[in-house]
Amino acid sequence: MKILVTVKRVVDYNVKVHPKADGSGVETANIKMSMNPFDEIAVEEAVRLQESGKATEIVAVSIGVSQCQEVLRTALAMGADRAVLVETDAILEPLMVAKLLEALVEREQPDLVILGKQAIDDDCNQTGQMLAALLGWGQGTFASKLTLGEQEIEVTREIDGGLETVALKLPTVVTADLRLNEPRYVKLPNIMKAKKKPLETLSPGDLGVVPMTQLTTLKVAEPPKREAGIKVADAAELVAKLRNDVKAI
Ligand code: AMP
Repeated sequence: MKILVTVKRVVDYNVKVHPKADGSGVETANIKMSMNPFDEIAVEEAVRLQESGKATEIVAVSIGVSQCQEVLRTALAMGADRAVLVETDAILEPLMVAKLLEALVEREQPDLVILGKQAIDDDCNQTGQMLAALLGWGQGTFASKLTLGEQEIEVTREIDGGLETVALKLPTVVTADLRLNEPRYVKLPNIMKAKKKPLETLSPGDLGVVPMTQLTTLKVAEPPKREAGIKVADAAELVAKLRNDVKAI
């Protein structure tokens, strides 16, 4: 049982992002970058499947600039066996990423691909779904529990107002939701060991994929500033304000 797990390098979730002065995108110069939080959950799940004896190999994949090696090293320190960086400076939209992953799947022949449900930079929530479609595989998205069998995997999915459990034939695509697990804290000895694990670098051309884009970002802007609130003396004044000023009642 081989697992391919994807890790995207994104602006750290603790950073408050700001649009660039020209509104062409989000400012990323001198900003802390980290592994997409949902991808940490995906890696953790792959490692737990390996620790329970159900998976034999975990390959971590990242697509992007050479600094993506850092998130791959984190995945290796968490427990992935080897890593592949598809190095490109191109703007990456989900369809492009899915096409590159499709080519990698053909190369690596995994039984299971685990992605994050969403990258917190562009909030697309599309890549796993597109990859499954390109491969003609099933998909278990928004997973909060996985039960792996020989030929099949049961995926409990977080859906509006409840949970849904589906059984999927392997090979298949799964995307990790927040409650799937709590990623482990990476210890220093494992960070040291990860430096010796194999990290292969490929170009999109090596995978036979030509980078392309299909959309243009017109403008990125801050949300409008919230107006300051006011204090009222008592309930009667609150009701009067809601009725006469805000016209909410
Ligand atoms: P998105 O569809 O962009 O919200 O991304 C969903 C998931 O696809 C992410 O959580 C990652 O697991 C994976 N993914 C997207 N872009 C990349 C990338 N450039 N490199 C590696 N994985 C990616």
